[in-house]
Amino acid sequence: MNSTSILKDLTAMSQYMGTPSRGYAILGEGNTSARIDEDSIYVKASGACLGTMTENDFLPVSISKVTQILDVSDATDDDVRDCLRGAVLDSGESRLPSVETILHALLYEYPEYGFIAHTHPTACNGLLCSVNAQEAMTGRLCPDHVVMMGRTSVFVPYVDPGLVLAREVRARVRQFVETEHEPPKALALENHGLFALGATAKAVMNITDMAEKMAHILLGTYSAGGPKFMTEKDVNRIATRPDEKYRQKEIG
Ligand SMILES: [Zn+2]
Repeated sequence: MNSTSILKDLTAMSQYMGTPSRGYAILGEGNTSARIDEDSIYVKASGACLGTMTENDFLPVSISKVTQILDVSDATDDDVRDCLRGAVLDSGESRLPSVETILHALLYEYPEYGFIAHTHPTACNGLLCSVNAQEAMTGRLCPDHVVMMGRTSVFVPYVDPGLVLAREVRARVRQFVETEHEPPKALALENHGLFALGATAKAVMNITDMAEKMAHILLGTYSAGGPKFMTEKDVNRIATRPDEKYRQKEIG
C-alpha cells in the first residue's frame, strides 16, 4: 500500500468512526492512526474532529522518537509535549499530534497492525463505566463475536490518560501476546473507551461495529438476569475451526 492510499483509507475510516449517528465519537473524541512504514505512522492532529477529518488533518510521526518517552521514568507533562512535537516528521508543521499518539505508536510494535481506531462508543462505555466492565468486555457471547474479536480482549483498569496509560497498555498487551500467542483485536479501557486494531481499515471498522453491537446485547442481558457467556471450550472451538478462520480472513 502506498502512502496516498493509506491516507485515503485512514480518512474514510476516521469519518466512519466520527459519524454522529453511530455514537462512537462526537466533537473531538477519539483518535485514529495508520502505519506508513516500519518506523512511521499517520496520526490524528490534536483537536481535529473524526467526523470531518480530511487528509490534511493527519501528521506523520516517528514511532521510535515518540515511544522513547515511555522509558523516561520522571517525564513531566512538558517533556511529553516536547516529545510529541519532536516526533513529527514534517519540520514545517506547527500542530501537535493527539495526546494518545504514544499509545498508538507503541502498538505498532506488532507488525500485524496497519490501522488503529480509538473511540468512545456509547454502549461499550455503558459497560466500561459499570461495575461489570471487565467481565462484560472480555467475555464472548456468540460465534460471530469470537470470529471478529478473537478469544478475548485486553482489559485496562482506569489509570491517568497519557503516559501512565500508555505504559499500562504496553505491559498488558505484552502479557496478552504471551498467553494468547497473537496480538489482540481490541483493548477495553475502563471508564474510557475502546481501541480496535487491525491490518486494514475495514477490519478496524468491523471490530468496532461488532464490539458496539455486542455491548448493546450485553446491556440487554444485564437487565434480563445477567449474560450467559460462551464456555472457554466453545470459544476455543470457534477460534480454531478452519472454516471460521477462513471466514475471519474473508471479513478482513
Ligand atoms: Zn479516549
